[in-house]
Amino acid sequence: MTTAPAGSTPTGAPASETTRFVAPDIDNLNVRMGPSTSYPAVGLLMPGAQVTGVSLPGQDWLQVTHGPLTGACVSGDYLTDEAPPATPATPCPRIEGRVTTDDQFANIRSGPDFSHPIVGRYQHHELVSGSLVDDGPWIRTERGYVNGGTLTLHTPDPSCLNGRIPEHLLSPIPLCYNATGEFDPGYTATTPRYLNGAALDALHRLQAAFKRRFGHFATIDLTYRSYDEQQFWFEKFSSPRAATPGTSNHGYGLAIDFEERETPWIYSWGAVANEWLLAHQARFGFDNPFASTLQEGEDYHFNFVG
Ligand SMILES: [Zn+2]
Repeated sequence: MTTAPAGSTPTGAPASETTRFVAPDIDNLNVRMGPSTSYPAVGLLMPGAQVTGVSLPGQDWLQVTHGPLTGACVSGDYLTDEAPPATPATPCPRIEGRVTTDDQFANIRSGPDFSHPIVGRYQHHELVSGSLVDDGPWIRTERGYVNGGTLTLHTPDPSCLNGRIPEHLLSPIPLCYNATGEFDPGYTATTPRYLNGAALDALHRLQAAFKRRFGHFATIDLTYRSYDEQQFWFEKFSSPRAATPGTSNHGYGLAIDFEERETPWIYSWGAVANEWLLAHQARFGFDNPFASTLQEGEDYHFNFVG
């Protein structure tokens, strides 16, 4: 998984990843949203847990580059280069978080991959606890497996983060996915768009399959939206076409609007690309919440639900 600001040095050259271990003589190590103790904690790592990340220039902090904690930071003061003894087995890091979406759900699957069937749902803001599978993003819970990208790990009220996700916790989508149109407020073919890292990983898989079928990537208008940008859309279109600021899944980097046009075209209800997306969305962890109507709501809007 890639995160744009993570791993870049001031010269633009990629910093190399290192793998270190939580020191064996501490209770738990806080993982934080940024490289100082003034940032909120987003998770806990057990003694001996493996952490892979990049060193932040001039600071003794490591920025995580794998799993659901990607983009978050751990203090190098509590890390060691020495792997823990092979036995007893290192406990899997425990994770506890809430389903991030304000109006949808997170899929529960029978195994840690999108190829496994969906066996249930955790509802919005529901508390989920379990242990990381390998280094993520899948989390094993007592009801099945959940993609960590659908969870917010450090607050009982994910809504307070809507539209306010720090840029270093978001991942840039490739510019070749961008729609080429220009639209408010200031979008062009080269405007960077961002997603939750796990959602972007899933989108890459969807795009590969889409391109095999259609010969080109599915073009995207909008992904993550800041609170201010959501306010712009709300003032332009108002409810229900635009969500009240602070309630859209775009504010979590968990929603994608494929390219919209004034007249019916490939992403419109019943058209070829829309039908393909609806038929295959579950294989890639996405869901169009309006699909049951097939004529109302947003044919182009898909949420990442794991
Ligand atoms: Zn949307």
